[in-house]
Formats: sequence, C-alpha cells, structure tokens
Amino acid sequence: MIEPHRKAVLAALPELSSVILSPSFAVLTTEHQCWTCAAVVSVSALWVPNFVERFDDGEELSVEDAAVLRFVESINLPAAQHISAAAPWMLMATTKGSGTRYLANRCQACGAIHGDFHLFDVDGPFGLVTLEKQGADHIRMHIVNYPIEAVAGIAQATWIEQISAKILQPQ
Ligand SMILES: [Zn+2]
Repeated sequence: MIEPHRKAVLAALPELSSVILSPSFAVLTTEHQCWTCAAVVSVSALWVPNFVERFDDGEELSVEDAAVLRFVESINLPAAQHISAAAPWMLMATTKGSGTRYLANRCQACGAIHGDFHLFDVDGPFGLVTLEKQGADHIRMHIVNYPIEAVAGIAQATWIEQISAKILQPQ
C-alpha cells in the first residue's frame, strides 16, 4: 500500500506522452459524483482499438491492443470536434495537480475540473478497483470512425479489454 505522502509525490510526476495514432476511437462515458458540488455528472475518456505510438526520435511502435488515452495534450481538429459533440464537458484545461494543459472533464453543474489523476486513480470512475467491482456494463460507448492523432499518455487494463470486447463484437 502506498502511503498518502508517497502517493502525492507520484501524482506530481509528469506523465510520459508521445504521439498516438489510431484509425478510429470511442468516447467512453460514465457517471461520477463531483467532489465539489456532489452532483452526479458525466465524465468521459477516449478509447482506441489499437494504435501506433510515435516517439520524439521518429521511432514508431505498433500496438495491437486497445488502450485508453490520458493527459491528452493535443488532438487533431476533426477528432476534437467529434469529442466535443459526444462529450461537451471535455475541454482543454490546466489542472493544479499536473500543471499541464490537457483535455479534462468539467463538472456540468459547478464547473470544477475532474483531473485525469483522479479519473484514472484506482478508485476513480475509470480506475481499476472501481471497474473490477462494478464491471464495465455501465460505461456508455460512442464510436467514432475517424482517425485520431493525439499527444497523450496511454493506459491499459483488464476493464479496457472488456470494453473492447463489446465494441469490437460483430453487430
Ligand atoms: Zn460539481
């Protein structure tokens, strides 16, 4: 178990990001109680079925597994427009926790920013413990058949595989 002080230090570390390219993506949405105003509001994350990761030195790594993007610092405009339409509560913001500007969720009731550190923390709405307890059935999926190119970090977890099985199921 990580002691609270140590956890704060980990949370302050900058996330490693690179360019992520994928032929399509999905906007995942779940409900979450705002810690500021206690309203239950929607929060979203971006899922990719597979991706190419491009590093600073131009090297590329092709990954066949699905992932969720975190700390999305920039995104190609058409993809960003699809995201705004599906999840208007996601917008670029600088959070105190990270000091960096990224695509974050904003409370639809009070405007508070729900940062990605919290969103993807083990007991956050897209966290491992939460999703192992609740399963992934309550997560809504908005599939966008448009390529995405983003500067972002990635997360991979078992619940993401469950989501992927549902999205990739033949209709
Ligand atoms: Zn709120």
